[in-house]
Amino acid sequence: MEAEFTARLDAVMPGVRADLERLVRIPSVSAPGFDFSPIDRSAALVASLLSDCGLATRVVASSGRPAVLGTRLLPGRPTVLLYAHHDVQPAGDPALWTSDPFEPAERDGRLYGRGAADDKAGIMVHVAALRALGDDLGVGVVVFIEGEEEYGTGATPRLLRELRSELQADVAIVTDVGNWAVGVPAVTTSLRGHVTALVEVRTLSHGVHSGMYGGAVPDAVIALSRLISSFHDNAGDVAIDGLKTEPDPAVEYAADRLLAETGGTPFGTGSAAARMWSRPAVSILGMEVPPIEGATSTLTPVARALVSLRIAPTEDPLRAFSLLEDHVRRHIPWGASVSVTRRGAAPGLAVDSSGPVYEQIRVALRDAWDGVDPVETGSGGSIPLLLDLAEVIPDATIVLNGVEDPDSRAHGIDESLHLGEFRRACLAETLFLHRLGTAA
Ligand SMILES: [Zn+2]
Repeated sequence: MEAEFTARLDAVMPGVRADLERLVRIPSVSAPGFDFSPIDRSAALVASLLSDCGLATRVVASSGRPAVLGTRLLPGRPTVLLYAHHDVQPAGDPALWTSDPFEPAERDGRLYGRGAADDKAGIMVHVAALRALGDDLGVGVVVFIEGEEEYGTGATPRLLRELRSELQADVAIVTDVGNWAVGVPAVTTSLRGHVTALVEVRTLSHGVHSGMYGGAVPDAVIALSRLISSFHDNAGDVAIDGLKTEPDPAVEYAADRLLAETGGTPFGTGSAAARMWSRPAVSILGMEVPPIEGATSTLTPVARALVSLRIAPTEDPLRAFSLLEDHVRRHIPWGASVSVTRRGAAPGLAVDSSGPVYEQIRVALRDAWDGVDPVETGSGGSIPLLLDLAEVIPDATIVLNGVEDPDSRAHGIDESLHLGEFRRACLAETLFLHRLGTAA
């Protein structure tokens, strides 16, 4: 049975590849300031691809960045929601690309082009599975292809709520992230949350001469720096008391991989994967202090910093914010007056990967990757869509996977898709949907 569906998938792959290239040729950039008419064209193409699979299809939302909804339900059978997005990041300077970002080109087994991986390949994974299964699709499907993932206007959360009754599903497959390495599949089962806060430190009622008063009263930049330095201990671990940490992930993020991806030297203690996925992190996103150019001999009365606190997947963001406030209150330097204002917050997500759906996903990935077990990974960043989905379809098992590999450079220059991994991702989804239908 498996061999039959593998053969059927391989038979549809040339057409899948051709349609992926058609999608990549449409510069459906959703960032502000771009012409949005290509997004209309990519939505229309996605709609026709889904219609051709026998789905009742319509373009939804009129934010200027439309989404596409396609439905084919099977009464009495489980329903699977399949998600991807058809908008892309801007290409940046086309001269920096080895080939035209909107003219797909194959080199060394990879397909280059903006959106080739993120996330037009995600769309085509779903289409490939639907084509390979054809009338043997034993489950209902709802396909939702978003048009503003790369630049959220708030229209998608509203849309998901409007479409709530049509989106109900037992399983939701969100195909928009990556695998662990070429040859090693992954499912992402945890995401950190975050809190962003503006911290303002005032030490003086007004600027005064640094020669006359320096040494007697502090300037706000020094006081703010001292406060910021209290957020970490000497090793580089977060020193805000009471924040949650989760158990360490099973996989380790190798130091050379971290170096290759960031150019940075690790800090803090313990596993890098744990520090990125299951523990809190503090960063300073911006500061307001006098710039060097034009600086005068003045003690600065007030300075501000935008503090980003990433929190463990199951941490409550409001609790984390009050722990941050408590920390600041206990570390106010030299009688300064300090205020902390919340600027944004979102919870993380911890997916229960223990049930039968995840067991079937693991088997399908292992079969598609020639016996290689998928690793469970986390993500240090949040994905707002998943929180909205979890609210709109609370009973669904959410599966977060994708086609990218560490060399895909999503959002970057020379974005590319590994074509062998793409085929495996298409095969895994075909096998998973087939078995889910058979099991029902
Ligand atoms: Zn994406």
